[in-house]
Amino acid sequence: MSFDIHVHPWTRSFMKRNGPIMKACGFFKLGVETLPTSTAQLIEEMDECGVAKAVILGQDTHATPNPKFSNYTLKNDDVASIAGASHDRLIAFAGIDPNAGPDALRELRRAVKELGCRGLKIHSSANSVYPNDERKMGRIYEFCQERGVPILFHTGTTGLGDCDVKYSKPEFLDEVCQRYPDLKVVMAHFGWPWADVTLAVALRNPNVFIDVSGWRPRYLPPGIIPYLNGILQERFLFGTDYPMLRQTEWMADFDRSLRPKLKAAVVERLLRRNAERLLSD
Ligand SMILES: [Zn+2]
Repeated sequence: MSFDIHVHPWTRSFMKRNGPIMKACGFFKLGVETLPTSTAQLIEEMDECGVAKAVILGQDTHATPNPKFSNYTLKNDDVASIAGASHDRLIAFAGIDPNAGPDALRELRRAVKELGCRGLKIHSSANSVYPNDERKMGRIYEFCQERGVPILFHTGTTGLGDCDVKYSKPEFLDEVCQRYPDLKVVMAHFGWPWADVTLAVALRNPNVFIDVSGWRPRYLPPGIIPYLNGILQERFLFGTDYPMLRQTEWMADFDRSLRPKLKAAVVERLLRRNAERLLSD
């Protein structure tokens, strides 16, 4: 049984209201008719291929200067209530907008303490905020470090349109992790095309994890496989980026193209155990 660390609880109607997300559908070459019509469909798809649990990610751009993201917010109350109705299959990560000043931390506190969110998702490009912007991010990092709340950052290029990739370069997270050494960080999509930088950040900072979401296993750059199979085997996380890539497709591709190249213990760590460790205590 496996644990998908990177799922967006998006439905077709939500996606159609968002220009940047529709551009991502073009990037991933997805037909609108294939998109999920309800969040209930997610659990059905997980059941089809043995995915026991998934992290569902919130997102908040309500104070962001970029008007293209005005329909992009998913309320933490809604994400938490989807997780709450899932019989422990789904785990909510909150979204906050770092542009909102003290309200951002207030909302994060509420999401963690009252709504039961277990982590935070930041998409620096959607929010037009650099991760090393201490004025906007410092208090958020302090809170997450103190409470053991992991932060999953989008890193590297993005399929989302109408935003700048420069905010999501993985190099910024080295500075953050050096400044907050106990902060648990997930670098999503291994920061491609800066995968080497992502690996270097993880090698220097023991609380950094890397998710492989958004990529069919057969296309993973060969340069990351020795790290996945070797020195960083306790830090790689399975993730799909659902609904951009579905669990059934990912698993079938994994069984064919990647599983045969990995040690058995590494497969267990990648698919489940590292995610359990990330979310422990
Ligand atoms: Zn994503």
